[in-house]
Amino acid sequence: MRVLLAGGAGYIGTHTAVSLLDAGHDVVLLDDLSGTHAVAAERVETITGRAAPLVVGNAADDAVVTAAFDEHGPFDAIIHFAAFKAVGESTQKPLEYYANNLDSTFALLRVGLERGIRSFVFSSTGTVYADPDDLPFTEESTTSVDLSNPYSKSKRMNEVILADVARVNPELNVTVLRYFNPVGAHRSGLIGEDPAGIPNNLMPFVSRVAIGSLERVGIFGDDYDTPDGTGLRDYIHVVDLADGHVAALQKAQPGYAVYNLGTGVPVSVLELVAAFEEAVGRELPKQVLARRPGDVAATYCDPGKARRELGWSTRLGIDDACRDYWHWQQSNPSGYAGA
Ligand code: UDP
Repeated sequence: MRVLLAGGAGYIGTHTAVSLLDAGHDVVLLDDLSGTHAVAAERVETITGRAAPLVVGNAADDAVVTAAFDEHGPFDAIIHFAAFKAVGESTQKPLEYYANNLDSTFALLRVGLERGIRSFVFSSTGTVYADPDDLPFTEESTTSVDLSNPYSKSKRMNEVILADVARVNPELNVTVLRYFNPVGAHRSGLIGEDPAGIPNNLMPFVSRVAIGSLERVGIFGDDYDTPDGTGLRDYIHVVDLADGHVAALQKAQPGYAVYNLGTGVPVSVLELVAAFEEAVGRELPKQVLARRPGDVAATYCDPGKARRELGWSTRLGIDDACRDYWHWQQSNPSGYAGA
């Protein structure tokens, strides 16, 4: 298969590109480099020994997508990772988030449908599930568009739009993948997560403390109704997540399908920090802080549908993720900018 990866030079895009290339598919990365660096695409080539051409441009621009098809097409499939993803920032910049995260889908679909793609895979999120009583979340659990922030809302809006588009394009496969919490890095240490500024997410924050660029880990609340009082999440190794995309494309049938991609195992903040300390080989300074506004006590999925229908399940755990993240961090103390 020949696959266009919009947002392909980012964290999940690069890992998926490696998985696709390793499975014998061809990839082209389209990325405006607003959240990553061109060197990330070169690293994909270094790891796989295969070509991963990078088209620099915005996936929300029909002309850019058309030029990518003209130069590198035809494509069998598009995987759409291109989005703004900072939850907190989205509450401050709703217009930018809605415009970017919806316009990219529109442009990719308009051009993709005109050029005859057979599959469209969309990066969604487990935060579309609205009722905590449904844990663990299955694909049948209640979703809402009335979520706590514009980032999550834009993802659910995309899903609704994609279901309508699938309905009038019966030959097309539309697969929505609801990610839980991606962590870890490729085992080589050559690609990984490279957040700009102070990271919002737990593992990158802990890793910055371990490398010495941040002082201490802040634990956002230890008074939740959970076994150790800290929040529970479903942390999925990014390589397992990437493999989920390959499985989804290889099993794609015409129509609209939704899959959770997670481990199904809830892990607390304290457990994740302890696993990272184990990988680093020393204790890290940490401090309990107030709860972070908008956080839920627990979110984790039932990944059974992906196992049954895609033949996919996770192989790696949080210990692997911490080891691989730390390897990436140590090899790239300033991320791609230092390369
Ligand atoms: N968290 C924390 N300190 C941090 C960042 C996150 O204690 O510096 C907690 C957060 O409250 C949540 C978990 O770690 O319980 C995962 O947070 P993250 O932002 O990584 O993912 P999300 O909240 O989007 O699931």
